[in-house]
Amino acid sequence: HADLALYQSKGSGRNVVHFFNPHLKQKASFELQLEEDLRLALQQDSGLLLYYQPIIDLRSGTLSKLEALVRWHHPQHGLLTPDRFIAIAEANGFIDLLDHWVLRSACLDLNNLEHMGYSGLKIAVNCSALNLGTDQLPGRIEQLLRSTHCPAHCLELEVTESALLSNINRAIGLLESIRALGLSLSIDDFGTGYSSLAYLRRLPLDTLKIDRSFIQDVVNSSPDREIVHAIIAMAHALHLKVVAEGVETVEQLAFLQERGCDQVQGYLFSKPVPLAEIISLFPPHYRPLERVASGS
Ligand code: C2E
Ligand code: MG
Ligand code: MG
Ligand code: MG
Repeated sequence: HADLALYQSKGSGRNVVHFFNPHLKQKASFELQLEEDLRLALQQDSGLLLYYQPIIDLRSGTLSKLEALVRWHHPQHGLLTPDRFIAIAEANGFIDLLDHWVLRSACLDLNNLEHMGYSGLKIAVNCSALNLGTDQLPGRIEQLLRSTHCPAHCLELEVTESALLSNINRAIGLLESIRALGLSLSIDDFGTGYSSLAYLRRLPLDTLKIDRSFIQDVVNSSPDREIVHAIIAMAHALHLKVVAEGVETVEQLAFLQERGCDQVQGYLFSKPVPLAEIISLFPPHYRPLERVASGS
């Protein structure tokens, strides 16, 4: 039975190949169509959009950054999250175009925010590992900053540990050039990659983001509490700011505050939403920490 075969192939490990499975063929053409649609969306600049999620500073209680998270409004499939299409762009060699679109949109949004009184607010943008495999990234960013007149110090680039792994020396060089342009850099999903400590000290970083898998059970799991505590201490020893990802409850928030975490991001404050919603939920000079702390 084809359904069963597909189901088993999922459950029985990655390297199992099933021949003559009509569902796989169907899936292949579905992916192919999605790839074509995504190329078109990028070419025509239609359907891609940015959602933003606030990052709150625990010392000042204010909105410190927005993380830009790409969405794709597909004509047939509706609103898609990145897990549905980033891998497609990566596998087919146009993730650089996608990330460039995101960076450009973020620059334009930053300019608008600045005019609306959000001075000093930063936008953090995710950068695929693959973009660190070519030397063109710093030059592209420089050109973008020039054409959009966007202040570099308002932009942060988030990279993941796995992104840095394949060629660490090249990655360090690229990140240094990007930082020299005035951008800040953060390491994303920290704790989920490999051998991070070995080169954490070599990377020109400003911020470390603790992966949400460590935050999830931090209130009840004693090992997770110790891990989070240790990550914060280590990051501070390296003069990095710490952001906790995936903060959903006031109990998690209280723990992180007590342990000296610098900033938090998560559904407790807001899911990723369109910029218009950020503007209405978080007006300039608003202090979201007070609202959450008072439970209203
Ligand atoms: P990320 O950079 O680690 O982004 C955080 C993800 O966690 C987002 O998922 C966000 O919606 C989710 N999240 C935030 N707070 C909470 C929470 O409290 N609870 C839970 N359960 N989840 C939370 P999203 O938007 O689906 O993005 C997934 C990933 O896709 C991102 O992970 C990032 O690695 C990648 N991504 C997003 N936008 C871009 C982009 O423009 N370029 C590239 N290359 N990758 C992107
Ligand atoms: Mg990120
Ligand atoms: Mg992350
Ligand atoms: Mg993630």
